[in-house]
Amino acid sequence: MRMTRILIQIIFFGVFMIIIKNGNMVLWLGIFLISLMGAVFFGRFYCGFICPMNTVMGVTGKIAKKLKWQTKTVPKFLNNKALPWIVLVIMAASMILSKRVLQRELPILIILILLSVLVTLRYEEWVFHNSICPYGALLSLTGKRAKFSTKVDHSLCIGCKKCETVCPSRAIEVDANIKKAYVDSSICHQCQACTGVCPVDAIAY
Ligand code: SF4
Ligand code: SF4
Repeated sequence: MRMTRILIQIIFFGVFMIIIKNGNMVLWLGIFLISLMGAVFFGRFYCGFICPMNTVMGVTGKIAKKLKWQTKTVPKFLNNKALPWIVLVIMAASMILSKRVLQRELPILIILILLSVLVTLRYEEWVFHNSICPYGALLSLTGKRAKFSTKVDHSLCIGCKKCETVCPSRAIEVDANIKKAYVDSSICHQCQACTGVCPVDAIAY
């Protein structure tokens, strides 16, 4: 599954670069809108498989971890659920202003990619995913209603926390009292990193 996901991410990153080169961002917006609606059925697969920011952050995170640049201490303002919505409003206002005043399209996705790299050089990936990304904020609304999503079979789970450790979005957590893992589908990227490490095959999509 890991290799399949990486391959799909590379393909979509290539598509994204071609779209950027041709200046046809409406096409990417279309892909996002389809994914946003699709999340009601299949969860946030856009984040796990399609999003160019996540692809770049995956590589950045690995480099930053190796170089020991990342810290687990996150400032309070970056752990605020309202922040991605504030970013969304700022993003929309900047795009409208840029179009009206400067007569130019603001390269918002490029700006967000750069921001995601900067944030991930210092903090774990979940910080950008859950506390900054405006696309993630929108996807959390439809993703939480996902008909199909990654779930844990509690009759098998032994509460070992291996899934928690690998999850890039902190979407899976083990309840300390009953020692069973739970997935929050509003922030789960359906990346299946957790299914690969579970020693008792308790997690499945
Ligand atoms: S890795 Fe599997 S067994 Fe361990 S806590 Fe997660 S779901 Fe439970
Ligand atoms: S819960 Fe599992 S599938 Fe969901 S984001 Fe975390 S690692 Fe990926």
